[in-house]
Amino acid sequence: LLGCEENTKPNDWTDQSEVDPEASTDEKRQITIGLSMDTLIEERWERDRDMFKEAVEAQGAEVVVKAANGNDALQIAQAETMISQGVDLLVLVPHNAEAAATIVGRAQLADIPVISYDRLVKNANVDLYISFDNEQVGVLQAEAMIDVVPQGKYAYIGGASTDNNAHLIKEGVFRVLQPLIDRGDIVVVYDQWTEAWMPMHAKENMRAALAANDNEIDAVIAANDATAGAVIEALTEVGLNGQVPVAGQDAELLGVQRVLSGEQLMTVYKSIRSLTEQAADIAVRMAKGEVIETDIKVNNGKKDVPTLFLTPVTVNADNIETTVIEDGFHTHEDIFE
Ligand code: BGC
Repeated sequence: LLGCEENTKPNDWTDQSEVDPEASTDEKRQITIGLSMDTLIEERWERDRDMFKEAVEAQGAEVVVKAANGNDALQIAQAETMISQGVDLLVLVPHNAEAAATIVGRAQLADIPVISYDRLVKNANVDLYISFDNEQVGVLQAEAMIDVVPQGKYAYIGGASTDNNAHLIKEGVFRVLQPLIDRGDIVVVYDQWTEAWMPMHAKENMRAALAANDNEIDAVIAANDATAGAVIEALTEVGLNGQVPVAGQDAELLGVQRVLSGEQLMTVYKSIRSLTEQAADIAVRMAKGEVIETDIKVNNGKKDVPTLFLTPVTVNADNIETTVIEDGFHTHEDIFE
């Protein structure tokens, strides 16, 4: 079946300038992986795109990429285009965990396997899920925070409620905080999602948190560095930046610099190189028909999805050198300018 498909599948990539149209005449048709992304806004996603492309190309396959600017209908339309153009496999970073099930359904009808990348697609027949242990991201954030603020008023500025990762991170955070909440040491005085992960909304949330508490907030856990940056802007407006510890994740350049300046307590480093290299390796193997076995399975509401989790790492003022710099994620120069 696979061989037959290989000969009959269209290979019309004429709208993708980087793809050689001559490739279709090759005897051994080249594998093409579709990468459907939610957004390129946060610093990490451009790296995901570039490193994934690089890693797939290193294996002699090619990638077509589309990013949906946070728009579900657009993401579905873009993915449908890739499916109808005959990609061999789709790597999907869903904007909306539920809405993206439509994409998985369409891919399945076309016999195209789907890898849920970084974010899990819910209630859909995805073939594999690869991500970081997102609950652990939250655990690391909360552990770092209770170390410096074992008692006091906490604000939680979550991610997008439409992103499964935002729920996992929050679970991790509250798993650590709960015993301290039960003891009465910690009171969570504010807890909100951030619509579409947008910093603008995180800032509004933080302003509301401050206003509702007479600016008396002792600690803020934000779901990523972009929202942490917005929280710090809101703290700056009331002269509290650097006085209220803020946790983030992604180890974005600005996040790491804020950790250095003391405005942000910590961030969480996730090696995008490891994620993209493993995802690329698996994608190409699966596209060639190989079945990938994993030790872990995660239920997404529809099935137990074979899963690979990578390990996130705490970055604080003491270990920037031995984490993000040593790993080549940021250069010493970039950070210290
Ligand atoms: C990712 C984070 C990212 C956030 C916003 C999450 O699903 O895991 O790394 O900051 O989305 O794009």
